[in-house]
Amino acid sequence: MSKKIFYIYNPKTLTYERVYPSLRQRIIVVLRHLFVGSILSIGVIVAFYFWFGSPKEELLKMENEQMQTQYKVLSKRVDAALEVLNDLQQRDDNMYRVILQAEPVNDEIRNNGIYNPSRYENLLQMSDAELVVSTSQKVDNLARQVYVQCNSMNELVKLAQGQEERIKHIPAIQPVSNKDLKRTASGYGYRIDPIYKTTKFHQGMDFSANVGTPVYVTGNGRVVETGWQQGFGNTVVIDHGYDYKTRYAHLSKILVRKGQEVIRGEEIAEVGNTGKSTGPHLHYEVLYKGKAQNPINYYFFDLSPEDYDRMTQLAENQGRVMD
Ligand SMILES: [Zn+2]
Repeated sequence: MSKKIFYIYNPKTLTYERVYPSLRQRIIVVLRHLFVGSILSIGVIVAFYFWFGSPKEELLKMENEQMQTQYKVLSKRVDAALEVLNDLQQRDDNMYRVILQAEPVNDEIRNNGIYNPSRYENLLQMSDAELVVSTSQKVDNLARQVYVQCNSMNELVKLAQGQEERIKHIPAIQPVSNKDLKRTASGYGYRIDPIYKTTKFHQGMDFSANVGTPVYVTGNGRVVETGWQQGFGNTVVIDHGYDYKTRYAHLSKILVRKGQEVIRGEEIAEVGNTGKSTGPHLHYEVLYKGKAQNPINYYFFDLSPEDYDRMTQLAENQGRVMD
């Protein structure tokens, strides 16, 4: 700081005279400068922190954002894993347990303890509570489902042991060669009747194929009906034992006779367009204790989980029922 020089006007001499301030006055001036300076700098610092946050806060904020992103990614991955597991559950209930004649896994067992909100109370204090709680819930759900599914599979393995003979007989493949699933025309369920245009229950599954395409028997058994049937045209019915029968309809040619034993995969007929039919196709039914089942659950020897999903979608196509 440069030394200040003070003057005072003297009316008697009409001149400015230099004055020399006392030490006290000088100290006061210095202190005043210091005081103003500190107030100003505190103001600037406060403003800076207010607008920009301290460097430490900035770091925490960045970490927090990264954590949130990470949580969202995790949440999505858990969703994907749950989806795969859901697929397994579907197959478990609709295929494996059907084949082995076991009751489906109880929903209560599957979901036991998952939706217990008190588990997550300590997480609710967090700033991103919703994201953290929902992700934790999903992970707990996943862990539970994996545990239940493992137990279920162990049970099924035990059930399957000693049932080889039964497994050879129950329908387990598609009745026509259909690797790319292009022949899947329409599935089981309520469909619009192709001729009368009314809603009607379709008891089987339709596979579109050219006349003469080989039709294969889907499980070991014995031929119990052959010949013309009302609506179905040329038809073959196989009795597989274990309360299972399959029906193959609208055939152009029948290659087996009544009473004949057949083995899964054996050609028994050729696709046709006989009976009530809107084009060459095979109508296929699976009957358990005389009641039509959804055939989609009886292709477990040649469908992967992805194929099963695709076929489910194709079979839901309501527009192409051929009867
Ligand atoms: Zn049909």
